[in-house]
Amino acid sequence: MRKKQFKTESQKLLDMMINSIYTHKEIFLRELISNASDALDKLHYRSLTDSSVGMSRDDYRILISVDKQSRTLTVEDNGCGMTRDELENNLGTIAKSGSFDFKRDNEKNDEVDIIGQFGVGFYSAFMVSDKITVTSRPYGSDTAYLWESEGASGYIIEECEKSDFGTKIVLHIKPDTSDDRYSEYLEEYRIRILVKKYSDYIRYPIKMYTTEKKLKEGTKDEYEDVTELVTLNSMLPLWKRKPSEITEEEYKGFYTDKFYDYEAPLKTVHTKSEGTATYDALMFIPAHAPFNYYTKDYEKGLELYSSGVLIMEKCKDLLPDYFSFVHGLVDSADLSLNISREMLQHDRQLRVIAKTIEKKIKNELLKMLESDRERYEKFFEAFGAQIKYGLYSDFGAHKDILRDLIIFKSSFEKKYVSLKEYVSRMKDEQKAVYYACGETEDKIAMLPQVESVAEKGYEVLYLTEDVDEFALKILDEYEGKKFQNVCTDKLDIATDEEKESIKRENEDSKELLDFMKEAVGGSLSAVRFTNALKNHPVSLSSEGEISVEMEKVLSKMPGAEANMAKAQTVMEINSEHPVAKKLKELYATDKDKVCEYAKILYAQARLIAGLTVENPAELSMLVCNLMI
Ligand code: ADP
Repeated sequence: MRKKQFKTESQKLLDMMINSIYTHKEIFLRELISNASDALDKLHYRSLTDSSVGMSRDDYRILISVDKQSRTLTVEDNGCGMTRDELENNLGTIAKSGSFDFKRDNEKNDEVDIIGQFGVGFYSAFMVSDKITVTSRPYGSDTAYLWESEGASGYIIEECEKSDFGTKIVLHIKPDTSDDRYSEYLEEYRIRILVKKYSDYIRYPIKMYTTEKKLKEGTKDEYEDVTELVTLNSMLPLWKRKPSEITEEEYKGFYTDKFYDYEAPLKTVHTKSEGTATYDALMFIPAHAPFNYYTKDYEKGLELYSSGVLIMEKCKDLLPDYFSFVHGLVDSADLSLNISREMLQHDRQLRVIAKTIEKKIKNELLKMLESDRERYEKFFEAFGAQIKYGLYSDFGAHKDILRDLIIFKSSFEKKYVSLKEYVSRMKDEQKAVYYACGETEDKIAMLPQVESVAEKGYEVLYLTEDVDEFALKILDEYEGKKFQNVCTDKLDIATDEEKESIKRENEDSKELLDFMKEAVGGSLSAVRFTNALKNHPVSLSSEGEISVEMEKVLSKMPGAEANMAKAQTVMEINSEHPVAKKLKELYATDKDKVCEYAKILYAQARLIAGLTVENPAELSMLVCNLMI
């Protein structure tokens, strides 16, 4: 039989396992049991839709046995089993994509990271075995296959006999060394402890033949060895237990195991509901977005159980899109076990559960925002964009749920602020909630308009993501305060006096301003003097509904060229700046110069606003003309 080699990545992981100095080698048993449990889930799941699978829920079990003579530990299940190809693909390569990427990112960390935080599945058995034999027969197939490996040298696969379906894994336990007493994994009591510790909540019975000395019947002091098949786990799922009796470690272990995350969740929500809907829910908010979270490959959903039995792996209807980052499960006795997917969608009970879950998630997030700010900010950095999309979607139908969950950085201390906090510290005379858009916080902070609003002592929200302004537009107002982009002509922060004086100035200079507008042409809809700018000579603002930032976002959308809504821009010139005086003088003496200067000023205004210059070559000529 020709030996096959492991794929490179697998080989590396394998070497790590074989030579492991990891102190918690015992976790290998948890990994094998979880795999067995998954295999039982899969077969059970199939039986729900495929009537040819003649299994009932009580038939499933995981069997463990030890044999000190031959130094073997065996884990056996009557689950879905593996075909030849599956043995090859699942055990010959690393199944859990991502585990190695993780390792590479943290090259300096030792193996503890990958083993402890990630779990490495099947291969971890090589920490305690020098040979592993797997025999497997898929449910419904007559042929069984054997996979065997002594680790580094490769593996073999060949046909074999197996009387029943399922998978049997035989570990040939390593000899003891001065550091490690591997023989402990051949002790029944040790196996009992490990199952209790790591796998108590597995929903299928984990059974083992145990031999105990018992008093011989009819005697007072004669003992005999009695062998019994005992169930080692309590089978009570974690979510059915009292939260007060569950440790952080248990929650974390459950989460990282089940949802393949290497990092503990940011928040665990374990709740029991009685009343209109009766269910237990165990939900987790991850500490970081999954790599595919913001792509269409990401599938949202909670696992759905009916009295402890899995009936759907990803029930989409339980989570709104804006909370799609939540992982977890719902277990309700109100749902029928063999309900079809189509029916489930219309199930009134399910809708009630979904509604209460949504409320629960929202409240937990709000609580975090109020009492554990640092954690909330971490959450928002990972998933805030999703919340903002949620606000914007469906024409703002979810405003009430989401408006208090959004936060933005602001001009005050550059820290995050919620809308509630913003409004609570607004100045008495302040009319609106001000915001400004830009690529980065630093760029926004340097906008001329931001400077002038901040000068008045008003706070400005910094909007750096594409969706931000659209979300605020949909929201329209918060506690009666309208949102106001500081880069629009509606910015109304001047006193009556200031307004009056600038109005007069604009009227007096109407001819000059119109001339400049004509000189620039194109997308410019007006030129005006302003007394709102502090130091800057010029800025660009917009009139109407579409802001400059919105135009940028819209222009990036597919098919944008045709009928794209464009911002109507207004060039504002600081009336206090020497440039204003210069323009007025030149208008009387040298109109050509005014024309050139108008073009230069407009180009500057566009650059400051983060737009491109419409005619860079012309700008270059104009600036050079000033130099010679
Ligand atoms: P993971 O369980 O994280 O996917 P493992 O290396 O532990 O990674 O297992 C690889 C794959 O092998 C599993 O995804 C599963 O498809 C298959 N497998 C492992 N153990 C069993 C088993 N007892 N029965 C059926 N399939 C199994």
